[in-house]
Amino acid sequence: MAGMIDLRSDTVTRPTAAMRRIMAEADVGDDVYGEDPNARRLEERAAELLGKPAALFVPTGTMANQLALLCHCERGNDVLVGQDNHCVLYESGAGAAWAQVNFSVVGRDGFFDAEQMVASVKPAESHFPQTRLVAIENTHNRSGGQVFPQSDVIAIGEAAHGHGLSLHLDGARIWNASVATGLAPSELAEPADTVSACFSKGLGAPVGSVLAGSVEIIRKAHRYRKMLGGGMRQVGVLCAAALHALDHHRARLADDHTNAKRLAEGLAQLREFSVDMSSVQTNIVAFELRAGLARDFVLRAAELGVRLNALGPQRVRAVTHLDVSAADIETALARLAQASGAL
Ligand SMILES: *Cc1c(COP(=O)(O)O)cnc(C)c1O
Repeated sequence: MAGMIDLRSDTVTRPTAAMRRIMAEADVGDDVYGEDPNARRLEERAAELLGKPAALFVPTGTMANQLALLCHCERGNDVLVGQDNHCVLYESGAGAAWAQVNFSVVGRDGFFDAEQMVASVKPAESHFPQTRLVAIENTHNRSGGQVFPQSDVIAIGEAAHGHGLSLHLDGARIWNASVATGLAPSELAEPADTVSACFSKGLGAPVGSVLAGSVEIIRKAHRYRKMLGGGMRQVGVLCAAALHALDHHRARLADDHTNAKRLAEGLAQLREFSVDMSSVQTNIVAFELRAGLARDFVLRAAELGVRLNALGPQRVRAVTHLDVSAADIETALARLAQASGAL
């Protein structure tokens, strides 16, 4: 329908006219031969922003996370990971299929502290899988885009390294975490050995993520990327879009956060919904229906011009992004109020 407001995800953004122009004019080469100038530029820029010596452009955040598992772990190793993390829940079981790791969930709602992490490290005795990696997600999607407290990230990094473990940060939305905390992406990623970050969510590029880490790890990841079919050719059209997004669409994520807060406040005024305002820290609003089913409500909302995602039987997610304005939020609230009448 015309005027549809799409709050399903920040992945639905479309490249702006300026971005399309830059893509059209990008100089390119065959990146499997290492000859794409924009791929080199983007990887250098991303490494610098994330504070790591090297970085690798990959088609998806899923591949970035899978490369991290493959680079850090041997088959049968144990990975300590927060509840409902993307690498466990949303990657089609790839961690089991390719890296063949064992996941042990730590803490609640995606968050844990160093003490909980240490308590989950398996003994060296041969019954146990050998713990090798700790993985955290910042911001954490399923918890409604909450920021992982940096004091915990630092303590987890120290404890992990003290136990001979590596730390991977799934920073698909690290740009949002950076804007919300005022900490540079490099500061957020400092405790981690590898960090993945996404260009195709709030930043608005059409495709692409990056994995950053040491030169040695990224060299290994480069081989695994080829193995998984992620060696791409004239990839500069995509990398130019990502570079443009890093320059022009990072600071404006603050607008998405303001819009999310306004949406949450509006929803909280309606008695049909329950919203934990303390969870609304970035561009995601996860809320509960007091009655009815999320999947029915999502259908009704779509009929009235707002697309949302159901996260659970009564849990719904709305995500703000580049293609949603403050005025759209007011319209969305009016439509959702109407949709809630059926609950
Ligand atoms: C979106 C996302 C990814 C990567 O998703 P792709 O669709 O594979 O690019 C990874 N981690 C988190 C936390 C995400 O939200």
